[in-house]
Amino acid sequence: MSKRILVVDDSATMRDMLTQYLQTADYLVATASSRAQALEILKTERYDVIVTDLNMPEMDGFGLIQSISELDWDPGLIIVSHQDERALYSARELALAYSVNLLGVLTKPIDKGLLLSTLNDVASMRDTDKKGAETVLIESEFIRGLLTDGLAPVFQPKLNLKTRKVAGAEVFARWRAPGGGLLGAGAVLRIAEEKGFMDVLTYRMMELALEQQGRWHRQGQDVKIAINVSSENLRKEDFADIVLGLTDQFDVKPGMVRLELSESDFHVDERVPLEVLSKLKAAGVGLSLDDFGAGFASLVRLKTIPFDELIVDREFVGRALEDKMARIILESAIDLAHKLDLSCNCEGIEDTAHLKMVQDLGADTAQGYLIGKPMAPEEFLIWSEDFNDGVLTIPGLNIAE
Ligand code: C2E
Ligand code: CA
Ligand code: CA
Repeated sequence: MSKRILVVDDSATMRDMLTQYLQTADYLVATASSRAQALEILKTERYDVIVTDLNMPEMDGFGLIQSISELDWDPGLIIVSHQDERALYSARELALAYSVNLLGVLTKPIDKGLLLSTLNDVASMRDTDKKGAETVLIESEFIRGLLTDGLAPVFQPKLNLKTRKVAGAEVFARWRAPGGGLLGAGAVLRIAEEKGFMDVLTYRMMELALEQQGRWHRQGQDVKIAINVSSENLRKEDFADIVLGLTDQFDVKPGMVRLELSESDFHVDERVPLEVLSKLKAAGVGLSLDDFGAGFASLVRLKTIPFDELIVDREFVGRALEDKMARIILESAIDLAHKLDLSCNCEGIEDTAHLKMVQDLGADTAQGYLIGKPMAPEEFLIWSEDFNDGVLTIPGLNIAE
């Protein structure tokens, strides 16, 4: 029997094209132009595979992924999109988190051969009546996991380019998936945001990171920790007290902790964050402006908020070797940071050419896969011991100057 495919896309051209491709391969095809329409169709008809665009006006493809996970059968999903890699990546993670049967992710313009081979690759489709209930990250599991052992923080080294010493580590959220793997930060954040658990997530991440810091201290390594926080956290009047309560509880000096606030996520005109941030700063906690780069709109924030570090977005760092504009922004960001007496961190260093470039431009610290990927705590300890002992060298770090 022919497989039944539902195509969801807001563009009529795209729907027609996909229908044509699929019909020539003998699939039975239905189409929907919105999430609502798709859900309506899925109420009465079962489909083996859903092919959907990621970004449509009155719906987000992300919402559709969630709705698909709630169906009482388990269709395959193919995402088609012209979105950037990062969005696609988080769609992939979300599909994994919701245990949706993701068959593939294709970017526009769609290659017919690739589409059909993605469908064919699924040698035997899963029994469409059974749902792997144990692999779904549901709300109650998320809450339980948040309070127990669901979160598995990973640590990425940050290198001081002037002293060539480890400047600290940034901690990222990962989730122990029921199947044994680790889910990325994208999936964790999305669920936390959706379900209203951003505060719990942040406090739990801090707790785990500070606890780890204590463990490393006892093992002979003092590691400064950078923790990502969201603007939602800062809107809580007691945020500073809670953070300082945690440093106290785990016996960590506030100066060993740094908070990273994303430029895109930050509104300077709110009174509470300023008070909260000033209080943290006065106690010695470091404050970084993360993801800096999209123009200089954030200049005004730099003046008002007591940041002491500026983190250049990895997009700009990544593009700066071949893209002149990106290079100018990177250079100006480093220069601006120094003029404002801030230190400047460059993220996303993936090769020696980029490391050399940011060293030459005078960046203070750097992070990226070339230096070290985000690692489990035990791995990080070994990494930093090896680095400090000179067993591990970073290619390109010593060729500058
Ligand atoms: P971010 O703070 O800008 O973190 C950098 C992201 O880039 C991390 O992804 C990191 O794994 C990745 N990365 C590091 N080096 C490289 C590199 O050389 N090349 C490339 N391509 N990527 C690199 P991750 O862990 O998926 O985190 C994504 C974002 O999620 C973070 O962006 C941060 O904004 C947020 N996030 C992660 N953990 C937490 C958390 O516990 N709380 C909050 N509020 N946000 C978090
Ligand atoms: Ca960050
Ligand atoms: Ca960043």
